Parts: sequence; structure tokens; C-alpha cells
Amino acid sequence: MERTLVIVKPDAVQRGLIGEVIARIERTGLKLVALKLSKIDRETAHTHYQEHVNKPFFQGLVNFITSGPVVLAVFEGPNAVSIVRKTMGATNPVDSVPGSIRGDLAISLGRNVIHGSDSPESAEREISIFFSPDEILSYERAIDNWILERD
Ligand code: GDP
Ligand code: MG
Repeated sequence: MERTLVIVKPDAVQRGLIGEVIARIERTGLKLVALKLSKIDRETAHTHYQEHVNKPFFQGLVNFITSGPVVLAVFEGPNAVSIVRKTMGATNPVDSVPGSIRGDLAISLGRNVIHGSDSPESAEREISIFFSPDEILSYERAIDNWILERD
């Protein structure tokens, strides 16, 4: 079963949007398997965003993601990465469609509310940065037969 990392970014925490963002992903049917409020330090931010280390916006991105508390979450389910990316919307809120989290809740590229892993491989790497295996729960939901087509 695929997993993906979600970060409710510092702008969304400050704006009181934690519940709104998590609820939109919960409603897809993906299963929440880990959740915590945390503050990301600069070293961890560098590790998490290592693919962007040479980009001109890197310092600004690190400053922003370390600027206040974030909510870290892991969601699990078939195609979890793609489902969350679709629910998030495009990186730049100018291009994210209405109905998506960024399309509805953001207007700035550098204040775009949510992070979601961009591939199953990135998800595994990113989840291991923020969560130990014992923090990721395995549990059944009685409603799963109404969400998952398993046969
Ligand atoms: P994401 O996977 O959709 O979050 O986008 P990326 O992985 O490409 O970029 C990571 C984050 O860096 C984005 O969510 C933006 O907040 C920020 N970012 C990306 N591209 C730019 C840019 O060109 N300028 C600035 N200021 N920020 C950017
Ligand atoms: Mg990305």
C-alpha cells in the first residue's frame, strides 16, 4: 500500500487552516496513519528539500518552512501520492484549479499551504526524515470496503 508525506506549511498553521487541509485529504478516503505538530529545523529542511538546494528560491524556502510550526502527516492508500498531488493542486496557486487546496486557499508560490511528496520514492525518503516506524500506525477501518475495491 502506497504512503505519502503531507506537510501543512507554516502559513496554513498561522491562518488556522490545519483542519481544513487535513479534512480535504481525509475526505478522499486515504487513511491517516501518522500525525504530529512540529517545528522543522534548518538542517532537516535542507535534507527534506535537497532536490532544490541549487535553486534561487532555496534560502527563502528554508526560511519559510522553518518559520513556525507545521503539521506532519502520513496518508496511506492506493495511489496515495497522486491522489494527494491532485487534491493539493499545482505548485503555483496562479495555476491551481478551483476546488484544489492551493486553488482555493493560496495566492503566492512561496506561501502555498501544503507539501505533498511527488513520487512513491520521494515519499519513502521524506517519511523517514520525519517519522520513526513506530509512529506510523497500522489499523483497520470498518468503512474500508466502501472506499477500497479490493477484489
Ligand atoms: P511542490 O512539490 O508542488 O511543493 O513544488 P516544488 O517541489 O517544485 O517546490 C517546493 C516548494 O518551493 C513549492 O511548494 C514552493 O513553495 C517553492 N517554490 C517552487 N518553485 C519556486 C519558485 O520558482 N520561486 C519561489 N519563490 N518558490 C518556489
Ligand atoms: Mg516538491
